[in-house]
Amino acid sequence: MHDLIIIGAGPAGLTAAIYAGRFKLDTLIFEKMSVGGQILLSPSVENYPGFPEGVATFELIDKFKQQVMGLGLRIEEQEILEIIPGEKSYQVKTKTASFQTKAVIISSGAKSKRLGVEGEDKFIGRGVSYCGTCDGPLFKDKDIVVVGGGDRAIEDAIFLANYAKSIHLAHRRNEFRAAKILVDKLKSNPKVKFVLDSVIEEVIGENKVNAVKVRQVKTLKESVINCEGVFIFVGIIPDTCFIKNLLETDEFGFIITDQSMRASRNGIFACGDCVRKSLYQVINACGEGAVAADSAHKFLLNL
Ligand SMILES: Cc1cc2nc3c(=O)[nH]c(=O)nc-3n(C[C@H](O)[C@H](O)[C@H](O)COP(=O)(O)OP(=O)(O)OC[C@H]3O[C@@H](n4cnc5c(N)ncnc54)[C@H](O)[C@@H]3O)c2cc1C
Repeated sequence: MHDLIIIGAGPAGLTAAIYAGRFKLDTLIFEKMSVGGQILLSPSVENYPGFPEGVATFELIDKFKQQVMGLGLRIEEQEILEIIPGEKSYQVKTKTASFQTKAVIISSGAKSKRLGVEGEDKFIGRGVSYCGTCDGPLFKDKDIVVVGGGDRAIEDAIFLANYAKSIHLAHRRNEFRAAKILVDKLKSNPKVKFVLDSVIEEVIGENKVNAVKVRQVKTLKESVINCEGVFIFVGIIPDTCFIKNLLETDEFGFIITDQSMRASRNGIFACGDCVRKSLYQVINACGEGAVAADSAHKFLLNL
């Protein structure tokens, strides 16, 4: 019987682990892909306090990991498939094993949302991408379209401009949710053209992408932009399908918690990008991880 199981080793789960380790809880951490989570898709982080020049993502995550390991904690490379509630504990299941724990922290994060238009699925990996850092170098001197208006879209467009010949930034509104400092930086780049109040209707191609069909939402006029790549950044969906109907979530699957990061079942806490909230960033994922571990600790003391 463990005290605590943490599901997901992104910034939220790693921070929860650091706090749990310092509380000396018997803790197991599970990670199904890469320790570090989504932020590994970005080469650097520029808005994390303490690094005015920005910090290389691998360096930051490596420090988080070292701190977890230094506390003697273990990260299991396995995917959690189910959490089964018992009388006074939970059974947490992977494909091959089952673990008993008194408390659980869910820090399973999120992944990119699809646009849901014709051609999108067909051309994933053949021109359609959700990660500028991963695929940007493949589009050197090519014409590309970036879709979205949040921080991630603008940040990635700035990065992609290092490689692409031209970028059309398509956004369904004429204002951006992204930080103004990022938008101004992108606007000053002569390679970038803004296609505002416009939505992508279709990704067109034969074996790979060669254009997108765009509709102006005010005039309803359709046009075609020739391109070899389409980078889509239109939000995130939580990675919470393994909780099934165990906890209260919103309609998209984001877990609903109180301010102490308690989910709707006694002994289960959630933090980071899998939680319903207004800001999805490393800094508050870490803060919520700390709160979740503190709440789990208090819960265990009261058992
Ligand atoms: C391209 C990009 C750029 C970004 N840039 C910035 C930035 O500049 N600044 C900033 O603050 N934020 C940025 N973000 C957002 C930031 O990455 C997230 O807010 C942050 O990673 C959330 O941390 P998390 O720990 O909640 O979730 P995640 O980072 O998503 O980590 C969750 C982890 O849980 C694992 N997991 C999921 N399900 C299971 C399961 N069933 N079993 C085991 N493991 C599981 C996943 O594999 C993953 O490793 C960026 C994100 C992206 C994609």
